[in-house]
Amino acid sequence: MGLVENTFLRAQLEDRRKRLQVASSEATSYTGLNRLLREVDSALERMDTGTYGICEECHEPIEADRLMADPLVCLCLDHLTSEQARALENDLELAAQVQRTLLPPNDLRAAGWNFHYHWQPFSMVSGDYCDLIYSKDGAQEIWFLLGDVSGKGVAASMLMTHLHAIFRSLTSRGAPPAERLSPAGKPVDAPAGNGGLSLDQLMQMANRVFCESVMPGQFATMVAGRAASDGRVEILNAGHCPVLAVKSNEIVALLSTGLPLGMFCDGSGEIQTVKLDKGERLFLYTDGLSEMCSPSGKQFGDDRLKHLLLESRALAPEALVSACLGDLKEFASGARPSDDLTMMVIQRTAT
Ligand SMILES: [Zn+2]
Repeated sequence: MGLVENTFLRAQLEDRRKRLQVASSEATSYTGLNRLLREVDSALERMDTGTYGICEECHEPIEADRLMADPLVCLCLDHLTSEQARALENDLELAAQVQRTLLPPNDLRAAGWNFHYHWQPFSMVSGDYCDLIYSKDGAQEIWFLLGDVSGKGVAASMLMTHLHAIFRSLTSRGAPPAERLSPAGKPVDAPAGNGGLSLDQLMQMANRVFCESVMPGQFATMVAGRAASDGRVEILNAGHCPVLAVKSNEIVALLSTGLPLGMFCDGSGEIQTVKLDKGERLFLYTDGLSEMCSPSGKQFGDDRLKHLLLESRALAPEALVSACLGDLKEFASGARPSDDLTMMVIQRTAT
């Protein structure tokens, strides 16, 4: 664990210590507070002696994402008591259920588009964010969002749910008056609905909010886009894998033009626009697909994916996702995925 993480965790523990002291001086009968206070003191002592983050049983490092989620853990996953393991499993199952309820409806058809996605956590919970935001009454445009939070496991899944909350609240409430102005102070021509935000504004605001709540080193690569009913799509790719536009005669890769969310509080990227005709589609994915390794250590890669997309042009979105999963399975020769995996197909259905 790096210096920055240790400094962050120490500050967290010292803050908790203060709060516990205040609470325990006011509550006379609840002994649980004193036990927690002893655990916090013990963790701070371990930091002083350089043994913090080391499993008390096997003396190997404890999983970093678990420390970030709970700075008091002192056993690695392999050495939890059966009671602790059961409690953790229950917590993870609950977290997994919560994450699944955050997913948008699958196979959504609206505004002349068909959206189909596949969201597959590496373990019980996922650090991949996948969302569709639209007005329920006759949507003229749909926001689509696909992101990948740095790291894996519990800490990444917590940031994924945080991203979900940020984008949902920004698109439902709209921008405060100042955000509706361009740098020159002139009103911005933002589209109606979905909070009245432009794509650029949405990403800038989401980045600022996300930046406030992550630790240094934590970030999320993201693709945010807006699909309009006339077939035009705006895309902002912030440090994420290319978005592949599968046109009738070619594949156009829309590469990243911005930095991942959470890296710098001030920043955005260039918006790219693409117009799709009936039957053409966009393919979005996380690196759990492109970086999946074969038994010999070769990566699945973009070239194999592009070849597959060209060959599968006649398939409907759901069948395309199945074909990708089938090809990935064949490529990996049955090896388990080593990362969260998400794919989204956005097909133009109207002329
Ligand atoms: Zn251990």
